[in-house]
Amino acid sequence: MSKKPILGDAYSTAPNRPAEGWLADLKRTRQSGPFMSDRHAHDMGLSTRAVHAGTHDDPRTGAVGTPIYQCSTFILNEDQYGAVEDGYARDRFIYSRYGNPSQWAVQEKLAALEGAESAMVFSSGMAAITATVLALVDKGAHVVAASDLYGGTYNLFNQEFPTLGMSATLVDSYDLDAIEAAIQPETQLLYFEVITNPVLKVVDIPGLVAIARRHNLRLVVDSTFAPPPVMRPLELGVDVVIHSASKYLNGHSDLIAGVAAGPRKLIDMIWPRLLNYGGSLDPHACFLLERGLKTLPIRMRAHEESATALAKFLEGHPRVEKVLYPMLPSHPDHARAKQLMKMGTGNVTFFVKGGDSAALRLLDHLHLPKQATSLGGVESLISLPFNSSQATMTARQRAEIGIHPGCVRLSVGIEDAADLIADFEQALAAIAPVKEPTHA
Ligand SMILES: *Cc1c(COP(=O)(O)O)cnc(C)c1O
Repeated sequence: MSKKPILGDAYSTAPNRPAEGWLADLKRTRQSGPFMSDRHAHDMGLSTRAVHAGTHDDPRTGAVGTPIYQCSTFILNEDQYGAVEDGYARDRFIYSRYGNPSQWAVQEKLAALEGAESAMVFSSGMAAITATVLALVDKGAHVVAASDLYGGTYNLFNQEFPTLGMSATLVDSYDLDAIEAAIQPETQLLYFEVITNPVLKVVDIPGLVAIARRHNLRLVVDSTFAPPPVMRPLELGVDVVIHSASKYLNGHSDLIAGVAAGPRKLIDMIWPRLLNYGGSLDPHACFLLERGLKTLPIRMRAHEESATALAKFLEGHPRVEKVLYPMLPSHPDHARAKQLMKMGTGNVTFFVKGGDSAALRLLDHLHLPKQATSLGGVESLISLPFNSSQATMTARQRAEIGIHPGCVRLSVGIEDAADLIADFEQALAAIAPVKEPTHA
């Protein structure tokens, strides 16, 4: 959208290095974060932002799309030396772990999609989560978090935290009273997932925001299961939103990446952790993520369309016990889903009659969905929590979080609904209970 040259643009919006360093610093904090283009696309619709925000055509050759800046380091000039000296290295290109034009491009697109001042990409969702959490707490800190967190995040709070002299209380994310009661004088952060895995609870984010405000705490949410345009948690008052970009944001099951987005002040606090822990995203992965993001809104519409049709089909099938899809009236959180979610996603969880052995047979008879964990890819992915994501839990622990025998975790891709329905129809027919041989 911008006709200005890429580097000239970045440099012209940042103050020239003036003699009075502190004055420049005051000016700098009024900017919304490293970016390369004019911010025109940020005022437009989400699909327009997905295509145009952050993306920068190559000024030298006219090549369309952001070039891949596959470099580890940048030629130092007086401006860079000055930036290092005066402490605003984040706003210059110096070394790719610190920042790279390919990262800035995708960060700007992500910020525009989330409605954030600033965004930062990482080499994985877990890198985003660990850097963000550890940037926002001090030694001795206590965190209140959900009891059914993503496994890696659970391990951060349960295994890493004690070794760092920190602690966490894990609470049912439905139970706002218990969440508030778990807050201690040392509590510094609330950490929750907006839609939980695999039972797809829709968490009361406005309720959590109210608790965070009452106690003057920061609220960080993992919105991997509800990317924009499904939900934009910053608009609901959340402080920082995190995603595993390996899922819907990239959408093609071909990279691992993470993002944290929020006010520039907080994202700037996370940056030193990115430098110290080293989880920066490779320029080529930035290119893939930027390309994936261009179709995010249109992909989400396709995910929703196929998932809705398939969920309705499964709900009416005699071999299916129960279907959990927040956009269907049968989901326990349907009312909240209608209030907080702009649209559905591709995640459908269901329970087949006949328990885990029937579920295993179902997977073997399906042709289209690939048996794999993860979610949010253009291809349908299917797995059973009992032998994959929640395999280390006991059957009782699984039952406590709603994973009963026969539970199937399905991420509906963007395939035609009719083909998916036909595939499930034949596979469910094939797992019909074997009749006991009758002796004539
Ligand atoms: C996958 C996932 C993560 C971890 O992301 P990686 O990119 O695999 O590091 C975190 N949270 C949720 C909800 C996830 O699904």
